[in-house]
Amino acid sequence: APTIWWIRRDMRLADNPALCAAIERGGPIIPVFIMDEVHDSYGVVPRWRMGLGADALAGALEDRGSRLVLRRGDALTTLRQIARETGARSVVWSVLVDPDAKNRDEKVRDALEEDGLEVIRKTGHVLFDPWTVETKTGGFYRVYTPFWRSVQNRELSEPLSTPGTIPAPSDWPASDDLADWALDAPMHRGAEIVRPHFTIGERAAQGRLGAFMAHGVDDYAQARDIPGKTGTSLLSENLTLGEISARTCWHAGLEAMRQGKSGAETFLKELVWRDFAHHLSYHTPQITTRNWRSEWDAFPWNEDASHPHVRAWQQGRTGIRFVDAAMRELYVTGNMHNRGRMIVGSYLCKHLMSHWKIGLDWFADTLRDWDPASNAMGWQWVAGSGPDASPYFRVFNPVTQLDKFDRNRVYEGRWIAEGRSNPDPLASAFFDAIPQSWGLSANDTYPDPVVSAEDGRRRALDAYQNRHS
Ligand code: FAD
Repeated sequence: APTIWWIRRDMRLADNPALCAAIERGGPIIPVFIMDEVHDSYGVVPRWRMGLGADALAGALEDRGSRLVLRRGDALTTLRQIARETGARSVVWSVLVDPDAKNRDEKVRDALEEDGLEVIRKTGHVLFDPWTVETKTGGFYRVYTPFWRSVQNRELSEPLSTPGTIPAPSDWPASDDLADWALDAPMHRGAEIVRPHFTIGERAAQGRLGAFMAHGVDDYAQARDIPGKTGTSLLSENLTLGEISARTCWHAGLEAMRQGKSGAETFLKELVWRDFAHHLSYHTPQITTRNWRSEWDAFPWNEDASHPHVRAWQQGRTGIRFVDAAMRELYVTGNMHNRGRMIVGSYLCKHLMSHWKIGLDWFADTLRDWDPASNAMGWQWVAGSGPDASPYFRVFNPVTQLDKFDRNRVYEGRWIAEGRSNPDPLASAFFDAIPQSWGLSANDTYPDPVVSAEDGRRRALDAYQNRHS
């Protein structure tokens, strides 16, 4: 009997334990991607990017004589329907631990098993499954460094190879057409500008890893902090959708270490940050929705996402150049350098005293690498409300940070057009990508700071002290 392979964040053929388990069962395989209520609840860019990932996977499956069945609707109803249509007796998928996916999956599993279908769940989205990493007293880790120490020397088996063939059924169930889902529609005129910045699909992800290991990893420990350079792997876009496995990246990093490449261990540590985010999200799912430290509930955050300061932040018009450059990079490419994420986050939560959830939501709408666990950990870190967080009173100065990390103003020049006779094409592209309703033009005067570095710092620290008095 056929097996349904329900694809979510494992959009790859190589090192895919779920796919291998489906093949081991011996019958035909029906790869299915469902735009269900969880996927439909994603923000604009992640939902669109996920559709593009599904499309790339469809191409790879066709190269192996298979197909991808696209359906829109409730996951359980759709899986039941496909099982009925095809006579499938088993459904296999890769385990996810973010709260929305986990809740859905548990309900789907229970219901399918009640129907008498076999459900096979395989891990592989992270390196070390969250329930396998325990402190000496049997609890979970709240702090990164001991988490890293406890996993750094663990043996990870080699990645699984790509199956040569994927057995196809004689009759294929009907599939939607991706174009009919119009996932790019909410991007309006921005879609054509943003899309070339995506690197989509498994082959492209493998290419990225290869290029990084050949040219990037040696210098990574230093270059990773310079937003004007491409000093990082850029793999988060692919890892979040499983277009490449974390295990494949880990083994490439180990190999680079054996070759004496100096940034390799730092790269492994970053991959473990991703695991740590999933560890926290599994053990404390409230991290995605509430202050991890509840004493922050009493802090006088601005919670109004339509506040003019928040709008200026979203639109790259705060008058603080590092912040605006990073927010524009985000809008045009769907990506933001990690240093930028820390600076814009700190400015929003501290200088603008706005709730980290406003930032979390904006990132969830605009990031091509959006990941519920890493995004939540990142925002709670920035705000000071999370476990192992940067303390609130350590306020980044966005002006001196620019002097430090963008000394020659490469990054700023790339993204800020105002006041320049010959702006960088990327800086100009921002004005073509944004909605016309924002009413912005490259010929505008660059704004004065909505809140200056010094005033914002003072205000934030006063509020912090009052909270403690
Ligand atoms: P590299 O430097 O090449 O690192 C390799 C891989 O390690 C990355 O691809 C990523 O998977 C992982 N990684 C690196 N840094 C982190 C980190 N701090 N936390 C978790 N994983 C990490 N990352 C996301 O993948 N999705 C998000 O939604 C996300 N939101 C963030 C929000 C905030 C406020 C902050 C401060 C950080 C966020 N990050 C997020 C983490 C980090 O900024 C990105 O993972 C990184 O910029 C990706 O670039 P890269 O692939 O070139 O990373």
